[in-house]
Amino acid sequence: MKEIILLKEGEMALKGLNKRTFEETFIKNLRHRLKPLGKFDYSRSQSMIYAAPLDDNIDMDEAVKRASKVFGAAAICRAGITEKDFEIIVRDVLARFGDELSRARTFKVAAKRSDKSFPLKSPEICAELGGRILDRFPHLEVDVKSPDITVNVEIRDTNAYIHSGNRPAAGGIPVGTSGKAMLLLSGGIDSPVAGYMMAKRGIDISAIHYVSPPYTSERARLKVERLCEKLSPWCGDTAFYCVPFTEIQEALRDNCPEELFTILMRRLMMEIAQRICEKKGISALITGESVGQVASQTMGAIVCTDNACRMPVFRPVIGMDKSEITEIARKIDTFDISIEPYEDCCTVFTPKHPKTKPSLEEVIAAQNSFDFEPLIAKAVEQTEEKFFGIS
Ligand code: ATP
Ligand code: MG
Repeated sequence: MKEIILLKEGEMALKGLNKRTFEETFIKNLRHRLKPLGKFDYSRSQSMIYAAPLDDNIDMDEAVKRASKVFGAAAICRAGITEKDFEIIVRDVLARFGDELSRARTFKVAAKRSDKSFPLKSPEICAELGGRILDRFPHLEVDVKSPDITVNVEIRDTNAYIHSGNRPAAGGIPVGTSGKAMLLLSGGIDSPVAGYMMAKRGIDISAIHYVSPPYTSERARLKVERLCEKLSPWCGDTAFYCVPFTEIQEALRDNCPEELFTILMRRLMMEIAQRICEKKGISALITGESVGQVASQTMGAIVCTDNACRMPVFRPVIGMDKSEITEIARKIDTFDISIEPYEDCCTVFTPKHPKTKPSLEEVIAAQNSFDFEPLIAKAVEQTEEKFFGIS
């Protein structure tokens, strides 16, 4: 039996006049994810996106797995395609669900008829089809509350579809419908989750990572590249910028008050990120900061960091507990990489007693006491760019 992937639109179904743009972006993203698996035909109708395989031997399990990570759909299912003819529907339901029905104790039929020209109404489809199933499998009982198996029949524009139910899909809105932002990606647990959360809101993500060799190792950098790769099933293709940060950190260590080291470092990170954003047409920053988690994430520290930013900074995990962030990290499969014990540039030269309530004036004065400009320009100049994408 020919199969198809059905994706029910989430929020984008409510987008009024813009709906078409959202749907087109969704299909473009979906096409890009499924392309390595073979050819599909894409169509849309009544807030449903259809991905029909055109080649034989397409790995449909993998296709469903990939499609369920594309932001924009609320639910997904893998359905059999049948004709809009009741007898053929009965035949195909018995063929597709025969094995499962013979093993089940209870079942129900759920029907949806969006093509109103089909002669049976939804409750009639349920009753008639239910009866025919019971004729064939007299041991079964109908249970509408919690059946062992639900036979879904959907009568739509061009075909009828049969399946055993929807599963939740990625949710959100399609990546590319909300502009571009730069994710400050460390090797930790929080920043990959922050990137995932903003991509879910339609933002096209690039990532920037700061390295301080020889204090940070090549393996630490490779770890972050692997995290970036892990994000691509959700975020799509991602440009990755790697900034050499050693000289700036050494200048900070040698010229600024130790207790302000972390906050000044964060301001300089923001400055470099913004310069690269300006070159690349990116208009916001994303970090994995969460209030109170560490000394650089107190309210006072965040005020000082924000003061160095002329772009909006999105901090989607700002109000989340570590356990909540961890739950998402496990779901998007970044957790195991994040907990690998490699050093980050933030842990190089960390002060013993960082100021948790720095005053903005003293921070600015400390930054102005040394001319960082040539080092900033050099770091931007020497930043390496790579791409990570779907394969
Ligand atoms: P994470 O788990 O994301 O590493 P964290 O709890 O370790 O966060 P910090 O080390 O204070 O917190 O970093 C706060 C944020 O600063 C990170 O979430 C990330 O967005 C950014 N950041 C930290 N280190 C780097 C780095 N080496 N390169 C790029 N961004 C970084
Ligand atoms: Mg970190």
